[in-house]
Amino acid sequence: MAGILKIENLNKTYGSDVKALIDIDLEIEPGMFGLLGPNGAGKSTLMRTIATLQEPDSGSIRFGELDVVNQKQEIRKRLGYLPQEFGFYPKVTAWDMLEHFASLKGISSHKERKEEVAALLQRVHLFEHRRKKLGGFSGGMRQRFGIAQALLGNPELIIVDEPTAGLDPKERNHFHNLLSEIGENKIVILSTHIVEDVSELCSRMAIIHKGRVMMEGNPLEAIAVIQDKMWKKLIEKSELVEYSRQYRISSTRLQAGRQQINVFSEEQPGGGFERKSANLEDVYFTTIPLEEMEA
Ligand code: ADP
Repeated sequence: MAGILKIENLNKTYGSDVKALIDIDLEIEPGMFGLLGPNGAGKSTLMRTIATLQEPDSGSIRFGELDVVNQKQEIRKRLGYLPQEFGFYPKVTAWDMLEHFASLKGISSHKERKEEVAALLQRVHLFEHRRKKLGGFSGGMRQRFGIAQALLGNPELIIVDEPTAGLDPKERNHFHNLLSEIGENKIVILSTHIVEDVSELCSRMAIIHKGRVMMEGNPLEAIAVIQDKMWKKLIEKSELVEYSRQYRISSTRLQAGRQQINVFSEEQPGGGFERKSANLEDVYFTTIPLEEMEA
């Protein structure tokens, strides 16, 4: 049984005043964990800290018996990481690059390396492209290659930072299927600003904003909490300012040239509002004030 990742009182400030992480407490069990938040929330800082690439100012991270901050080498043996900016050599083939990463990961036997590289390329559906150069890969293929590299050495803890940004819907779907296959008895932490990534994949999640955990739990339970409290109405675009003064608008969208507003309210908010079935987007937008959401 894989260990639990326990983050306690984690703080990180850049320079003298950019508070990227403020008293972060999280307990993450095996399975897919979604870390959702807008740009600048602190997600990458948290991911890089768990991945032992930077240190917190204070606080602790434990993975099972291990201290992540002070036992970096031990953690790195058990860790797979797909960073937001994944660099590789465009003129190298997928096979050669992965074999190179495998030797860096310490898989020293040539035979073992070949077997693992072949198995991983098959797993991410890139085996038939193994002789192609990485520079010619599409965004989706690159991300799948990134996952193959993160899975080298059979890690127990896998971190993927904003992996679906820039993928088209088909590629994203393919990538989601791949992630859901690996998330069964390992910890997979997926950081994203895309709500669908979490609603499709994760059984546990946290929303972070301005360095703080705003909500943590099971997505379906979080939706249930607001289920009877979401309302919608179609208004004219020119009325938006007036409505935003009166109501707690969680999100807006255009519909056939008119503006649909989604409103959080304990009670029926008044004329013309209809009940709306709540979803994870509503949870997200009621957790973070609309005017603070720039992503
Ligand atoms: P996210 O991944 O959610 O977009 P980040 O962890 O990248 O958030 O950033 C959190 C905050 O810390 C932002 O205000 C960002 O500008 C700042 N930040 C991130 N990295 C650095 C750095 N190396 N030096 C200074 N400020 C940084």
